[in-house]
Amino acid sequence: MSLEQNLDPFALADQLSNKLLIDGKLTPALSGKSFPVVNPATGAVIAHAADGVAADVDLAVQSAAKAQKSWAKLHPRERGRLVQECGRLLNTHVEEIAKLVALETGKALRTESRVEAGVLADVFVFFGGLGSELKGESVPFKTDSITITQREPIGVVGAIIPWNVPLLLMALKIAPAMVAGNTVVVKSAEEAPLAVLRVAQIMNQVLPPGVFNMISGDGPGAGAPLVSHPKVGKVTFTGSVETGKIVYKTAAEKLIPVTLELGGKSPMIVMADADIDRAVAGAITGMRFTRQGQSCTAASRMFVHAAIHDEFVSKLKAKVDEMVMGDPLDEKTDIGSIISPEQFAKVKSYIALGEAAPGATTLRCSAMPTDPALAKGLFIQPVIFTGIPNDHRVCKEEIFGPVTAVVKFTDYEDVIAQANDTEYGLAASIWTKDLKTALDATQRLEAGLVQVNQNLVVQPNMSYGGVKQSGLGKEASLESMLEHFTHKKTIILNLG
Ligand code: NAD
Repeated sequence: MSLEQNLDPFALADQLSNKLLIDGKLTPALSGKSFPVVNPATGAVIAHAADGVAADVDLAVQSAAKAQKSWAKLHPRERGRLVQECGRLLNTHVEEIAKLVALETGKALRTESRVEAGVLADVFVFFGGLGSELKGESVPFKTDSITITQREPIGVVGAIIPWNVPLLLMALKIAPAMVAGNTVVVKSAEEAPLAVLRVAQIMNQVLPPGVFNMISGDGPGAGAPLVSHPKVGKVTFTGSVETGKIVYKTAAEKLIPVTLELGGKSPMIVMADADIDRAVAGAITGMRFTRQGQSCTAASRMFVHAAIHDEFVSKLKAKVDEMVMGDPLDEKTDIGSIISPEQFAKVKSYIALGEAAPGATTLRCSAMPTDPALAKGLFIQPVIFTGIPNDHRVCKEEIFGPVTAVVKFTDYEDVIAQANDTEYGLAASIWTKDLKTALDATQRLEAGLVQVNQNLVVQPNMSYGGVKQSGLGKEASLESMLEHFTHKKTIILNLG
C-alpha cells in the first residue's frame, strides 16, 4: 500500500490529528485526549495531537519488544536494505513533509524546512549501508581457544526529540538504532508532533509493524514513562540540559545507557586577519538566523578582534537586514517565527536584559512582517548586541532565539579563555588566515565540533555531540551506531 503525497499541509495536519502510531497502525490515545498544535506564525490551531500517557507508551514498548525478536534475526544487510528503502520512499514525500514541518514549527520552507525534509533520505541511505559494519573482533587469548566479540542489539530504544529540527534529529537516532537490530519508540516534542508522525506513517509502509512506533504527549506524561519503562534498554535524548539531567537520573536507576545531545553557547572567534565578508556570511549561517536562532550550535557569542569589530558588526547588520521575515510557507521568506509563546517570552526577556546592560548597544535587524494574517505570529527581529561582557547572562545562558552578542577582544590568549569560559561545549569556530593560530585554536577550544573558517551543518558520517554540559556521547556516525546502539559480547570457545 502506498501513500499519496498530500501537498496541502492544513489538510494533512487535520488528517494526522489525534493519532499515535503503534504496532504499524495509526491509533488515538487510549484516553481519547488530545492537545492543540498551533501554527506559531499565525496563532491558529492547525490540529490536535493525541495526548499519549504511560498506558500508550506501554502499548508502544510492548509492540516494539515483540517486533524486536524477529527484527534482530534479520540479516543486518536486510535491515539496512529496508532502512534505505524508507529513505527512498521519504524522498518522494519531501515537499509535503517540508510544508507540514514549516506549518507546525514556523521554520521557513525555502531556507529551513525543505532542507531538513530533503536530508532525511541521506541519513537513512547512509546508515542503511552500514549493516555490514556490525562486525566483531578476534582477540588473542589462550592458544587452545578462540575468542571473539560480536555486536548485539540492545533491544528497545526510547528516543526523545525536541521541536527545533525534529525530523533530522529523529532520523539520526532511529536509523542507526534500527540497522543495529533495535526497535524504537519515539516521543515527539509537544510543539512539533505532526511531521514526524507523517514520517513514521510513511516508513511503516516499509518496516514490519512495531519496529518504529511514535508517541506524542508531554514530557512528564509520555517522555518520563518511556525512559522508566522496564523494557526500554537504551534512551537517546536531544533537548535542554535541564531535561537531560532528569532523563539521565531516571536511566541511572535502571542502569541503562543514555545518549544526551543538549544545549550550547557556541563561540565564534574572528581574528584581525580574517576574511571579513566570509566571516559575516559564516556568522549568519552559524547563528542560524533563518531558524530564528533556535539552534543548539547557534554562534551566540561572536568574539571579534577590535581592529575589525566595527566593520564586522555593520556588515553583519546589513546582511541580516536583507533577510525577509514572514510567512514560513511563502517562498520569499528567509526567517519564520519563534516556536511558542513560552519561547517568545523567554527570548524577549533576554533582549530586555541585554538592553539594560551598562554600555550595551542593541541593533535590531530585518523588518517585522506587515501581513495582517501574521499579526498574532511569534515574530522577533534578530538582535545583535555589542558592548556586553562575556560574563553577562546574555553571554552565559542559552537563549535559543535570534540574539547574538558581539564581544570585542584584542588578545588571543584572553579570547581562548573567554570562549572556554562556559558550561557548554557543543561547537566553536575560529576565523583566520593564519594556519598556526587556526591549528592552535582547534586544539584548545573545548567543544565537540571545532571549525576553521566555516560554520556548517551536520551530515551523516561526521561524529556529532558535545562535551561539558552539552551532552554525552556522539551521533551521526558509524561510531554512534556501534557504541550507542549495540552491546559488545565476548565469546570464548575453549578447544582444549
Ligand atoms: P526540552 O528539554 O524542553 O524538551 C525536549 C524533549 O524532552 C521534548 O520531547 C519534551 O517533551 C521531553 N521531555 C520534557 N520533560 C521530560 C521528562 N521529564 N522526561 C522525558 N522527556 C521529557 O527541550 P526543547 O525546548 O524541546 O529543545 C530545545 C533544547 O534542545 C535546547 O536546549 C537545545 O540546545 C537543545 N538541542 C540540542 C541539540 C543537540 O544536538 N545538542 C539539537 C537540538 C536542540
